[in-house]
Amino acid sequence: MDEAQSVIIDGEKVAIAETFEVIDPARGEPFARCPAATPAHLDAAVAAARRAFPAWAAASLDERAERLNRIADAVEADKEALAVLLSSEQGKPRASALGEIGAAIGWMRATAALRPPVEVIQDDDKLRIEVHRKPLGVVASITPWNHPVLIATWHIMPALMAGNCVVVKPSSFTPLSTLRLVELANAHLPPGVLNSVTGEGGLGRAMTGHPGIDKVVFTGSTPTGRNIMSNAANTLKRLTLELGGNDAAIVLPDADVDAIAPVIFAKSFGNSGQTCAALKRLYVHESLHDALAEKLAALARAARVGPASDPESQFGPLQNKAQFDLVRELADDARAQGGKFLAGGAANGEKGYFFPLTVVTEVSDGMRIVDEEQFGPILPIIRYSDVEDALARANASENGLGGSIWSSDIKRAEALARRLDCGTAWVNDHSSISPAAPFGGAKQSGIGVEFGHWGLEEYMQVQTVRIAR
Ligand code: NDP
Repeated sequence: MDEAQSVIIDGEKVAIAETFEVIDPARGEPFARCPAATPAHLDAAVAAARRAFPAWAAASLDERAERLNRIADAVEADKEALAVLLSSEQGKPRASALGEIGAAIGWMRATAALRPPVEVIQDDDKLRIEVHRKPLGVVASITPWNHPVLIATWHIMPALMAGNCVVVKPSSFTPLSTLRLVELANAHLPPGVLNSVTGEGGLGRAMTGHPGIDKVVFTGSTPTGRNIMSNAANTLKRLTLELGGNDAAIVLPDADVDAIAPVIFAKSFGNSGQTCAALKRLYVHESLHDALAEKLAALARAARVGPASDPESQFGPLQNKAQFDLVRELADDARAQGGKFLAGGAANGEKGYFFPLTVVTEVSDGMRIVDEEQFGPILPIIRYSDVEDALARANASENGLGGSIWSSDIKRAEALARRLDCGTAWVNDHSSISPAAPFGGAKQSGIGVEFGHWGLEEYMQVQTVRIAR
């Protein structure tokens, strides 16, 4: 079994005797151990971050940016080893792991280029009013298991760029790549500016109620988001919550089936469907339904699902047993209710949490496969005849992360896209994001946004300065 990585507190690797197992999802067996930090370690990490905060907050934006760029260089130099670690614990094929790390490096550099605005509201002979933005203090980052390196980057880098110090706690399913990321970053940061803690159960909750933490940034499930919000209320912590989605896509009758099928396939099944803004409900006009469903099924049947150790693998397993069991349950429920499986539908009993890419038709709203976030490689296709009805069904969800319209008539598609109740609406695309554009959820998909200056400002307190003349 691999050597345990170390948590980093106050710039130092801390030896922790207690460890927990990290499972290789391709085998369903442990392959490494990870340190199990205690509440005392968390207290030490928060105290170190608080000590480091005044000097880090006072550092110039250019100095902070330079350090972020050096971290990006360090991750670039280490990316092959980091990709092995990421694939081992998350299950994604090596090329996908390298893609995730490449995206993280790009995001680091883009974040380093951000500068918070200073606004002048009034400037006359009586009064000058300026609006400034100041860092908040100590930020707790709690990350999930689907894109551990990229999501930790999305949390940590803008928090640091804004002048905050950070304590990051990765998911206990995928802690190792984050520990490595924090170690690489610490070589380019003053001690205490970025700290890591890892542990199963309880540690995240301790962070969200910790009096020394000013803000929590969390990506994960909506139920955990609700818990965090209520637990953070006592100390009125600032929150950014990026929660679950059940994104709908609507294909209009004039869409070009051949052109859109590969894009819809990639946006539904990338990372084996384990992406918050993956396309999860596909509403297709009855005139195109059979043709598009068959094309998607053919792509799914041809895809190679396998372990990261096989260079031919295009899609990995589900990351953990609970997620595997949920996907199986949703497929069985759809089957029991008359769902027709054009591809996949059942695990073949091999070792690990592998589930084939699955396309299911003859399903509708009111069934679990459509109403619940599957977070796995299973795409329900729902036939519709009236666009207004499809739009109403797309919007009839407590989630509101993303949504998309697919059509050859861009003007009409854009008008419909803007009527989707969600944080990001795409036309002839889905789930694509960029570091300059804000991303966040409407309704119960979250609070606040990430990326661009909007994301940076989430890590800052507005301060109005009024100068009487
Ligand atoms: P969770 O939301 O439970 O876990 C995500 C992170 O939150 C982990 O680091 C976890 O720590 C931590 N955590 C758990 N409970 C608390 C708490 N009370 N207070 C503070 N932190 C906490 O995700 P799951 O792993 O349980 O996945 C469940 C579902 O979440 C999936 O089926 C999927 O639908 C959704 N999900 C959404 C993601 C997204 O990107 N929006 C990503 C991953 C999952 P620990 O590991 O120690 O429990």
